[in-house]
Amino acid sequence: MARHGQVTKFVKVKCKDCGNEQIVFAKAATKVACSVCGATVAEPRGGTANFLGEITAELA
Ligand SMILES: [Zn+2]
Repeated sequence: MARHGQVTKFVKVKCKDCGNEQIVFAKAATKVACSVCGATVAEPRGGTANFLGEITAELA
């Protein structure tokens, strides 16, 4: 997903439940909840987190 040689540090994730977009650390070490509805948008996976919503932007 990240272009070769580019490190993505933050991603913008769209909540699959309410559509809210929020910026999440790409290597989140804890579960990240949507700030609007509380649904899980990212969960730790030992490295780059697993994102449960659509990634709309990658921020270096
Ligand atoms: Zn939400």
